[in-house]
Amino acid sequence: TSTRTPLMAGNWKMNLNHQEAIVLVQKLAATLVDKRHDPAKAEVVVLPPFTDLRSVQTVVDGDRLPLRYGAQDVSTHESGAYTGEISASMLAKLGCSYVVVGHSERREQHGETDEVVNAKARATLAASMTPIVCVGEGLDVRQAGEQVPYTMAQVEGSLAGLDAGQVAGLVVAYEPVWAIGTGEVATPDDAQEVCQAIRAQIRETHGDAAADGVRVLYGGSVKAANVGGIMAKPDVDGALVGGASLQHDEFGGICRFY
Ligand code: PEP
Repeated sequence: TSTRTPLMAGNWKMNLNHQEAIVLVQKLAATLVDKRHDPAKAEVVVLPPFTDLRSVQTVVDGDRLPLRYGAQDVSTHESGAYTGEISASMLAKLGCSYVVVGHSERREQHGETDEVVNAKARATLAASMTPIVCVGEGLDVRQAGEQVPYTMAQVEGSLAGLDAGQVAGLVVAYEPVWAIGTGEVATPDDAQEVCQAIRAQIRETHGDAAADGVRVLYGGSVKAANVGGIMAKPDVDGALVGGASLQHDEFGGICRFY
């Protein structure tokens, strides 16, 4: 019933050097051909470390692969005296289509607030790329039954001030922190509960076109064996995949969920 193309995004985190990245992208592409993947049924994206992007670009463009790629983070600044930072325009120049903003590891380990995440989403949009805005509660919040209001506050803060057209084109990833890298996947109903609430909130704040266009992903211990149940839910438009995205067969199986 929806016209949203499912999105399967592999977050490699701090894994694989540029030579290993070339091998994985080539193997993933071959796996997708083997499995007769139809790009109209799922868009496939890899999110390597910054140092791998040039190599990934060469493989993807050289072979004209039906794969897109993006970065795991971006600076809030455009250019200048920000040692160690990478700007959105640099990523766009390398052919990146997506940028992950506000991953829970950055929120936790680097103190990123919703305000910072919002600034990173704006920087990404200003460079004509698509932000993948990550939200989701920790175990304590889940145990208190507060996952919906907690996550809605993150969505509100992270998307603040964006217009309806911008929100319609972006991606929100619901990643309960207790399910990330733990092997403990949320049930399809758990994923649907919060993904549905995210879309309903966006409908209130940004209108129907934004709510119907925005793609809401689930992330947290997604594997080929559990992706089907999650993707069957009406408000889940794809998956953000960590660990399993480092294995070409496993990630290929996830992309071939349909
Ligand atoms: C992630 O870090 O975005 C993630 C979902 O990790 P994993 O799939 O390993 O739980």
